[in-house]
Amino acid sequence: MIGAIILPQYVQVFSEQTIQSMKQYYASHITNTPQGAVFQAKTANAVITAYRSGKVLFQGASPEVEADKWLLNKDERTPKIENLKKKTHSYAPKEALFHAAHIGSDEAGTGDYFGPITVACTYVQPKDIPELKKMGVKDSKHLTDNIIVEIAKELAIRKIPYSLLVMRNEKYNRLQKQGWSQGKMKAMLHHHAIQSLLKKIGNAPLDGILIDQFCEPNVYFNHLRTENEFVNNQTYFMTKAESYSIAVAAGSIIARASFVREMDLLSEKLGIPLPKGASDKVDRTIATIIKNKSADTLHTCAKVHFANTKKATKYL
Ligand code: MN
Repeated sequence: MIGAIILPQYVQVFSEQTIQSMKQYYASHITNTPQGAVFQAKTANAVITAYRSGKVLFQGASPEVEADKWLLNKDERTPKIENLKKKTHSYAPKEALFHAAHIGSDEAGTGDYFGPITVACTYVQPKDIPELKKMGVKDSKHLTDNIIVEIAKELAIRKIPYSLLVMRNEKYNRLQKQGWSQGKMKAMLHHHAIQSLLKKIGNAPLDGILIDQFCEPNVYFNHLRTENEFVNNQTYFMTKAESYSIAVAAGSIIARASFVREMDLLSEKLGIPLPKGASDKVDRTIATIIKNKSADTLHTCAKVHFANTKKATKYL
């Protein structure tokens, strides 16, 4: 299991204009610019480094997702990117798992400046699947927040075994200052949520655990190891798992519903409606909070290391 971690990467030359558009598009994800680079940005999918030569390097868990945004047409795509898409690791689940008794885990709030990170996993048995489908359980990205909250309530009533963890902003910011990456926080939250659900379900049949992939499995294992934790047997990873596994989809709904509830509570507490996401609207809200409350208030409601904190100064 231990070995060199080779992250998939993809290189493509772009026009100066496209590179400037990229720089704007990734403004809230900009990290320290390495020498010779125009900018470097980090998203959940990849680290994007644009060089003055016009070369752009996409490197990370799913570089093709970011690269695809900038390729004008499919013909531009070299065979390499198609290969990347097909590339799987040895922790990919077999199709049969989606129809078997399994745990699925997903998170919410990781790209949002305000509010916590929430992670939820559910345990689904084959006999539950038709009812879950009838309830409208599917990839939460295709559902509105209102519907998500309704389905989450029904999941609770239906007593689908689940485990939910919320990492609020004070703790998030403290760990981030201690050097934890968001990836490590996510890994530990998924891990602990799964451990607690395993305890809840006891000896119930289990054919596998599926985590909606946010990093390479090796990176996940390394994060766990730094905290003396180890991955359970039969743990699988795949991107977009919520579109294949109803357990992951249910997890994504519970995580998102919890995030929405936490955002409502924070907004109420501050008396300022907090926008989701990391857009310009967020920057303006940050300025309002600093003016009406204090800069310290951000530690209680925001992921302060996001670039938005700096960008908001132009509205002060
Ligand atoms: Mn996910």
